[in-house]
Amino acid sequence: MGTFKAVRIDKAEKGTTVALTQFDEADLMEGDVTVRVEWSTVNYKDGLAVTGKAPVVRRFPMIAGIDFAGTVEQSSNPAWKAGDKVVCNGWGMGETHLGAYAEKARVKGDWLVRLPDGISARDAMAIGTAGYTAMLSVLALERHGLTPKDGPIVVTGAAGGVGSVAIAVLSKLGYHVIASTGRASEADYLRKLGAAEVIDRNELSGPAKPLAKERWAGGIDSVGSTTLANLLSMTKYRGAIAACGLAAGMDLPSSVAPFILRGVCLLGIDSVMCPIELRKQAWGRLASDLDHSKLAEITHEINLDGVIEAGAKILAGQVRGRIVVKIQ
Ligand code: NDP
Repeated sequence: MGTFKAVRIDKAEKGTTVALTQFDEADLMEGDVTVRVEWSTVNYKDGLAVTGKAPVVRRFPMIAGIDFAGTVEQSSNPAWKAGDKVVCNGWGMGETHLGAYAEKARVKGDWLVRLPDGISARDAMAIGTAGYTAMLSVLALERHGLTPKDGPIVVTGAAGGVGSVAIAVLSKLGYHVIASTGRASEADYLRKLGAAEVIDRNELSGPAKPLAKERWAGGIDSVGSTTLANLLSMTKYRGAIAACGLAAGMDLPSSVAPFILRGVCLLGIDSVMCPIELRKQAWGRLASDLDHSKLAEITHEINLDGVIEAGAKILAGQVRGRIVVKIQ
């Protein structure tokens, strides 16, 4: 057994340290499939982990990175064999299980999804946890019964990873998408992705009234706090908001008025422990409902040695769309 390159997080006297270093293969954790990691990505949670700004990492040493795509090298799981192309998101990788910013990963075969036809390992990580979460949100709105005929869909944190993929998918499905952003300079980018309207996020960031003028049939929110409260208060009768993020905070200063007077639903989205059948459905829909030219528009590429800097930038709200990380 040898060593491989990895972004390693260790506990320090105060907080944590992070470095690109060699990791011993013998120290990989339990799992029945070993994967040659080819591509990874930088999500908001990865930013929290590499900067140590929130206690995302709960085991040390840790290899950061919450998702990867690559090729199976070895497997004792009957579902997988050497050469299979796979994608893996969440399941505690980069938090409690050694993660994705490494040339190798060992995981449970039950965590893996086969790459759908038409999605390369690089595409899968251009989508990454952020994009797969956007699709879980779209699926939740569809399960609620929303269709483009019901009215507009608002997307908050629009120029971020979840937001960018959500806009691209929803517009392809025929929805009138209202993109809420704090970056007016990204209005053209958002329109190119398919936003029909771009609004200033300040419109949604103040204290929310219990009920306000009905503006949308649904929404995908990666911001939380007063923004989510405003989204709920402006949702049309029997509409729904899929809540997946907390970029502005964990709190929800809302009231029950939208729920009991307008029958509005709040749909919770978790990507980390999401059941495997729903993951397969989400990845299948990403293959069919995400325009590849838009994916290229959203994405920029870095190497493993750029991950630590990119993690700080994503927390500062300076990243547009998605970052894909070339591992090999
Ligand atoms: P990004 O950093 O790429 O995007 C977040 C966007 O939110 C920013 O680009 C910005 O958009 C907006 N934003 C940032 N700070 C604020 C603020 N203070 N007030 C209002 N808006 C703000 O992150 P991701 O897209 O990767 O993730 C988005 C959120 O979703 C995160 O909170 C993340 O933790 C969560 N998430 C949850 C998952 C789950 O399983 N539930 C899975 C994946 C992500 P703009 O500049 O356009 O205003």
